Amino acid sequence: MAELHNLYPEVPAETCTMCNDAGTQQCTTCNGTRYCSAQCQKDDWLTHKLLCKTLKEFEPSMRPDPSHTRAIYFPEDGDRPIFVWAQVLGRDAEGNPLLDGNVLQGNDRALRPSSSVKVNVVLQRRLHNTLKVSACPADHADTVPNQSLAKINKDLARTIRGPILVIGSEGLDDSHNQIDLNTTDFRHFIDYLQARDAMVKFVAETEGTHSSANAVPSVRINCLGDRILHPEHRDEYETTTIPASQLIAPTRFPAPIAERVGLPLIMRAIPAALTWRGRHIKMGDRHVQPRRNLTVESLNPLQGGVPGEQRIGSVIVARQDGKPLLFGHVQALGFYAQSLIMRYEEEVYTTRIDLHTFFEERPSREEFEQFFSMWRERYPDESVRDLISPYDL
Ligand SMILES: [Zn+2]
Ligand SMILES: [Zn+2]
Repeated sequence: MAELHNLYPEVPAETCTMCNDAGTQQCTTCNGTRYCSAQCQKDDWLTHKLLCKTLKEFEPSMRPDPSHTRAIYFPEDGDRPIFVWAQVLGRDAEGNPLLDGNVLQGNDRALRPSSSVKVNVVLQRRLHNTLKVSACPADHADTVPNQSLAKINKDLARTIRGPILVIGSEGLDDSHNQIDLNTTDFRHFIDYLQARDAMVKFVAETEGTHSSANAVPSVRINCLGDRILHPEHRDEYETTTIPASQLIAPTRFPAPIAERVGLPLIMRAIPAALTWRGRHIKMGDRHVQPRRNLTVESLNPLQGGVPGEQRIGSVIVARQDGKPLLFGHVQALGFYAQSLIMRYEEEVYTTRIDLHTFFEERPSREEFEQFFSMWRERYPDESVRDLISPYDL
């Protein structure tokens, strides 16, 4: 049977911990984690600093005896994750460690093998060794939210219950050879927890769609983070629904272009996904804010999407008049807005027209109707050619 991790590419051991570029720099304190740039190191810092300095207290020479391995422990009531010497009494058939439960900070709860992490789905690549995760069974009665994760992300601490112990196995083939974990493994494990949270929410959201009788068809416009760093690589536009009661809520993000063409919209922000919170996206040689939402920005060209420096993220868009909003309509609007920006850039050289006047005067319902039928005819996918005009609904 082909193993899942074989679907992901292998990268050199010197690759950046936060992206897939060459890790030419290294943390000088723990000598463990590699980065391509100051930005990637900065993005990792809130997490990395929790273990970086303590690594030197866990040199191999301090190992109590060869049955002990340097592991990462997340005490449920501790204020941070810690390195521990965990004693492995043996391994089961899948290479899962059999633990001496008493060595962990007096925690006498039975930790059971829960998963083997072999890939980083945020970075879409194979790891170099396996992270064997042991945790309390999910139905265990007296677990509490894991407080040691709160310094990384309070939302993560809320969703994960009970203590967790992570132990390394050499390679990806469920080897019985243990390997000491370091700060790079720590980052990969945090990415695993965050991506898993995003997947759980994604499934719940997909199942919840269209369930309410009082829901209006609307469109989810995904920000760069949800498109690139989400484990499912979401599309730019997704069909969804919004409860009719929310159509009267004041919109957080203005979309003056939509108003000018007679299709006023309301937009609702979606909480930032854990997978990309605090992380930048590498595009070419630039680091880009994953909260950037290019379509929403183009609909508000005067302010680049939102007033001030407030970031956008993914949003759900609906029509203020409560009529269905189809994703082709949003896509055409986005293209129309981008075409306006290009026209402005051409026109400003000849007429010196200022930005405000241009966007006050140029966009109109007549012009967008024409743009829409042209866009529909030229669209590569034939099914779009029958798409009803937003004005005919
Ligand atoms: Zn990087
Ligand atoms: Zn370090």
